[in-house]
Amino acid sequence: MPSRTDILARLRENDPARLEEFRKHADDVRRRNVGDDVHLRGLLEISNHCRRSCRYCGLRADNTDLTRYRMTKEEILAGAARAVQFGYGTVVLQSGEDPHITADGMAEVIRAIRSDERTSSLAITLSLGERSEDELAQWRDAGADRYLLRFETSNRRLYRKIHPPRSAEATDRMELLAVLRRLGYEVGTGVMVGIPGQTFDDLADDIETFARLQPDMIGLGPYLPHPETPLGREATTPGEEQPANDELTTRKMLALTRLACPKANIPSTTALATLNPADAYQTGLQWGANVIMPNVTPPNYRALYEIYPHKSDSQESAEEFHDTWIRRITATGRTIGIGRGDSPSYIRRTLMSTEVVQ
Ligand code: SAM
Ligand code: SF4
Repeated sequence: MPSRTDILARLRENDPARLEEFRKHADDVRRRNVGDDVHLRGLLEISNHCRRSCRYCGLRADNTDLTRYRMTKEEILAGAARAVQFGYGTVVLQSGEDPHITADGMAEVIRAIRSDERTSSLAITLSLGERSEDELAQWRDAGADRYLLRFETSNRRLYRKIHPPRSAEATDRMELLAVLRRLGYEVGTGVMVGIPGQTFDDLADDIETFARLQPDMIGLGPYLPHPETPLGREATTPGEEQPANDELTTRKMLALTRLACPKANIPSTTALATLNPADAYQTGLQWGANVIMPNVTPPNYRALYEIYPHKSDSQESAEEFHDTWIRRITATGRTIGIGRGDSPSYIRRTLMSTEVVQ
């Protein structure tokens, strides 16, 4: 794990030779800890309804310009079956914080995926926002394996500014991460890079927070302004204190994350690819990432899941995306991960708790 001084120096590094050395080091740590396999997770965006007002996100409740949709149980099952057809070992069910996704309704969907012989072997990842402990427990009992909930930034003041609490019921993402771990989920979190008002020190805090939490999965991408959001209308210029929301800063954060959490599953994200659709997914894999999340959402819905404009995966069909990816991954000498691709630290934790029980 790099020291604080090292983290800050890496974040501000611009010398091409030293950057390449840094990349190689992170890539080597990735290879030694999680191998050359790239795990593919089929992403299904099941609803774009949201009760929250995050100041950065296009799905926020106040965005009345957006046509809203919610997939039916049958559509979700068909999406999960599509993920299996492509050979993916995981389906990720993601949505806005949609109050019409009820505890019982979601549990029924999870059980249906588990009991259908076409999809029963899939790992099920949920990313449905801040939900109550009872709901999270019910979904875990129904068969969900993993949960993604980014803490977005470790700067608490900035977090409260960009992520206002939901009326009286304030929930804390850090506390929810502890709840998820207690419930036995494989836990994922992450941050955005280059949020207006964020500093290099905040990014260093994010890396130290990852090191302390040792999450099983860590997703990070550049903050991308959406014109229909309050934050998207604020102009910011990167400078001495404000990190850029660009590809290079995101790559540096990926590499530092790999050094802080050698065994975590780390995706090369859609937000990163949106900055450079031609090869950012690929460079993400060369800077420490070992996961790609191909989008299997039906195209008519996918275009409406507009967190930020020009999402890189909003145009290609799932088939095009899949074919391109298999070619690109194998061309770089990496291999396609087979099966669920559980995180090594989660497997170790589960084994240790089984040993204690026996
Ligand atoms: N509603 C759930 C939640 O908030 O956890 C899951 C869906 S939400 C759209 C998934 C992630 O999208 C958020 O955690 C956030 O980091 C990211 N996101 C939202 N708006 C973004 C933006 N303008 N630029 C980059 N990432 C964004
Ligand atoms: Fe809703 Fe998640 Fe977007 Fe916040 S980030 S507005 S919770 S979809």
